[in-house]
Amino acid sequence: MNYVLFGMQGSGKGTQSKFLAEKFGLAIFETGAALRALASDGSELGNKVKAIMEAGNLVSTEVVMEIIADFIHKLPEGQSVLFDGIPRSKDQQEQFDALMESEGLNFTGILIEISEDEALRRLTTRRLCSSCKSVFPAFYEGDKCENCDGELTTRKDDTPDAIRVRLDTFLEKTVPVIEAYKAQEKMIIVNGEQSIEGVTSELINKIG
Ligand code: AMP
Repeated sequence: MNYVLFGMQGSGKGTQSKFLAEKFGLAIFETGAALRALASDGSELGNKVKAIMEAGNLVSTEVVMEIIADFIHKLPEGQSVLFDGIPRSKDQQEQFDALMESEGLNFTGILIEISEDEALRRLTTRRLCSSCKSVFPAFYEGDKCENCDGELTTRKDDTPDAIRVRLDTFLEKTVPVIEAYKAQEKMIIVNGEQSIEGVTSELINKIG
């Protein structure tokens, strides 16, 4: 089975996707990371994508679908995937559903639920390793990355204005996608406002 992970920014999707991928042998497609790679390649398209991302807006569906189709086509036969950060709007949902159907891939949605207040609190306090891009929550006390000893910095799009835009985009555009998958009984829901281990074990129990 393939999984599509949903959650407001700051819900811990990135952290949980690593646990799930390891536990269930899934490949991860992280849309934001794929787009950050494109944004830093120095191409004309990359520079356009970079400006859109820094403002906290959504990159065009055309660009996103091209990247995801390319990822799927390069997968080894029979490899299941955890998709993170797609689909984020109804037009992406239509194209994503059509792509999955044409590739013969079934999927279940997973929603890590947190409140808007909690998302705001987490986003304004998290840091990112400038080297390996690991994300560290507010309670991480170190000055350096625990994985590679890199310098910790804030994400370019974790400014108060860009955070507001991203949360509003989630509420306006992604929540209708979540509601649609819930109505199709295609969504597993877990409480994201508990310890990292608590979220992981609830996820594993519900997927299990
Ligand atoms: P994330 O790392 O998931 O918070 O994504 C960072 C940024 O990448 C977002 O604010 C958007 O600018 C862009 N992005 C990520 N996923 C998508 C998507 N499915 N469609 C359009 N833009 C996206």
